[in-house]
Amino acid sequence: MKNVINDILKLNIDEMVNFNFDCECGKTHKVLIENIVVKENGLRYLNEGLKEFKGKNIFLVADKNTYQVCGDKIEITLKTEGYNLNSYVFLTKNDLVPDEKSIGRLLIEIPKNTSLILAVGSGTINDICRFISYKLDIPYVIIATAPSMDGYASTVSPLIVEGFKITYEAIYPKSIIADTDILKEAPLEMIHAGFGDILGKYTSLTDWKLSKILNDEYYCQTTVNLVEKARENCVENAEEIKKRSGKVIGQLTEALIISGIAIGFIGYSRPASGAEHHLAHYWEMAALSNNQPHPLHGNSVGAATLVISMIYQLMKNKIPKEINPPDPEFIISIHEKVGSVYNPKDLGIPKEVFADSIIHAREIRNRYTILQLAYEYNLLEKFSKILTEKFY
Ligand SMILES: [Zn+2]
Ligand SMILES: [Zn+2]
Repeated sequence: MKNVINDILKLNIDEMVNFNFDCECGKTHKVLIENIVVKENGLRYLNEGLKEFKGKNIFLVADKNTYQVCGDKIEITLKTEGYNLNSYVFLTKNDLVPDEKSIGRLLIEIPKNTSLILAVGSGTINDICRFISYKLDIPYVIIATAPSMDGYASTVSPLIVEGFKITYEAIYPKSIIADTDILKEAPLEMIHAGFGDILGKYTSLTDWKLSKILNDEYYCQTTVNLVEKARENCVENAEEIKKRSGKVIGQLTEALIISGIAIGFIGYSRPASGAEHHLAHYWEMAALSNNQPHPLHGNSVGAATLVISMIYQLMKNKIPKEINPPDPEFIISIHEKVGSVYNPKDLGIPKEVFADSIIHAREIRNRYTILQLAYEYNLLEKFSKILTEKFY
């Protein structure tokens, strides 16, 4: 059944499942997820969603942390209820990396005739299981354990292959189950990361509009409105993040899922990722190539959002007047409310990497952003000096 254009803005997240509509932008947008639960005690909805898999083989995947958070409970509950369940828990000493080794490990462990993958985790577990799900044509359900990134509803998996971060085509999860009682207990750094990924939508959406005006790039106002509404919901209650209120953790999780849905609407990550993501990727790749640890994706994006808002400010006489970039002071004020790190230096980004990233981050992706406009005016070297002095 086709729906009316702007209805999507009035829907609660659980009503967005299987929604599709002919948009004024000319595209038909679809949500191809069957079930989205963001609720207190959300795990109680799991059984309901799994009924069709009774008598079939389910494969639960977790790492040692997420297994403790709720993987063990889920395993016991489902076995007690008569499900055929095998599980694999990654016991890596360091953080699990979504690379050839992890993918290979899972391929070794996954039993033949598996009908469903039950992923218990956040970024990495989700990326690995989504990729395996896509390659083996086995649906997967994600049980979210932290509101740390916007990849839950995404269709791609960024993997580290031969030391490089490469984004691979994959598939939507069949269901997303987010229990806010579990999510609000996630490490604060991970909650800050999710919030940083949402803050990034201030500059990603500004970059998209910039490119629409300057390059006549395809643009969808409805998608922009959808992401802005979700973002505003959690920014309005930013102070509650510190208190880990279930309500704002739920709003944050919804915004992260909606960001993924928006990417699905457009078919590429334009609504969710602009120059702030290019900076964050540059920092991450620099750390990877030097075998250094790096911040969580969203923590980098949150700090990079401030940097990009400053570049917009430095370019204020050169951007079209219809563009309303976020004020750097405003971005800082939200970071302060949440208690997250906004200075790249405090985040551990080396000075030289930071200085280089301003000049070279635009080369990461063929996507028009404020960094490209600054490049066209031959201003990147100057901005690199100004900003490096400001932060270091
Ligand atoms: Zn549209
Ligand atoms: Zn992101």
